[in-house]
Amino acid sequence: MTNSATRTPPVHVPMTHFAEVNGELMINRLPLSRVAARVGQTPFYAYDRSIIQRRVAKLRAALPNGIKLHYAMKANPMPAVVSLMAELVDGIDVASAGELKVALDAGANPHEISFAGPGKRDTELRQSVAAGILVNIESFREAGVLAAISEELGYPARVAVRVNPEFELKGSGMKMGGGPKPFGVDAERVPQLLKEIGAAGLEFEGFHLFAGSQNLKAEAICEAQQKSWALARRLADYTPSPVRLLNLGGGFGIPYFPGDQRLELETIGDNLSDLVERTANEMPQAQIVLELGRYLVGEAGIYVTRVIDRKESRGLTYLVVDGGLNHNLSASGNFGQVLRKNYPVTIGNRMDNQTRETVSIVGPLCTPLDLLADRITLPKAEIGDLVVIFQSGAYGASASPQGFLGHPPVLEVVV
Ligand SMILES: *Cc1c(COP(=O)(O)O)cnc(C)c1O
Repeated sequence: MTNSATRTPPVHVPMTHFAEVNGELMINRLPLSRVAARVGQTPFYAYDRSIIQRRVAKLRAALPNGIKLHYAMKANPMPAVVSLMAELVDGIDVASAGELKVALDAGANPHEISFAGPGKRDTELRQSVAAGILVNIESFREAGVLAAISEELGYPARVAVRVNPEFELKGSGMKMGGGPKPFGVDAERVPQLLKEIGAAGLEFEGFHLFAGSQNLKAEAICEAQQKSWALARRLADYTPSPVRLLNLGGGFGIPYFPGDQRLELETIGDNLSDLVERTANEMPQAQIVLELGRYLVGEAGIYVTRVIDRKESRGLTYLVVDGGLNHNLSASGNFGQVLRKNYPVTIGNRMDNQTRETVSIVGPLCTPLDLLADRITLPKAEIGDLVVIFQSGAYGASASPQGFLGHPPVLEVVV
């Protein structure tokens, strides 16, 4: 391709889900400087409650009736966020007993909590059975341990089988199915596992398939959903009781980098309408579930860090800020990115400064990895200004090495 469009460098999609008033970023109607004063320190994460609410409402409007929406809380396990999500969605997916505690404390209905993840410890399985949540079985060992626990406690574990499909979600940031994987049980071995679940008298509820994450292509997501559905339909011939739950995963992505476009929901909604109809005909007791993490909370969060120094080095201006990869590993490019690219960034208290400059933004850690933005053009910033990194609501604080170099921990607030 040699047309002129390819010569303009790709840009970030506009971050218009946050308002701007008099050059200042607004977080749920409060100016950023006021939120910063309320928090009392930088750096911090702020999550905008109204953006999360709008996101869930928009998604529900695009999905057919009869789809349950779950929140995968590893994307953002802050207790106040989980409490908000417990009110907004139909269930919470946890990935450890620690997350289970947060979900239960948040008031989530145990019947609508499910637990996925490899390497569940015996104690975690026992806690899950006692709590009455659904365990997504990922190995033959887990089935055996759950059988023993059910016998000991006197009631059967509620289980689904997490299937490692023979396909993967094309174009995903992180692939979690297809080929050899630590997640789930290979599809071809599932009939044997179902036999053991039946023999042990566990309460079988259905299947869980999660093919990948951070995908921006509606067609790829639809294809994975169709293939997942077809696989579940085949495996339904081997189940000890009718399939009641069909967790088709998620994988819905958000735009992080220049050139990324927002996911188109209409195609996905149409595809799911088709699957809801076929489920009603062929697995009439089954309920389709989607589990989403970053899509629900990622765009609602910003990371805010203050400029503590401005430096020139051989023609490049550096803004040195008070937080970095120790708090926001993802934005530094060190959490699953292959080629480092910039997240969308602004100077949150000076967005209307007409003087622009190209800078690199670095954190206070003594490593070249601590780069938050590489040669990005922004309103000119002074010492004391607030650098805002957008798209930071998922895989932020809890996915970052906060102990690295001994700086203070980051604060998180919901506004
Ligand atoms: C991590 C994870 C999710 C959430 O992925 P997102 O990209 O945040 O939507 C959902 N389900 C399972 C099983 C996961 O491991």
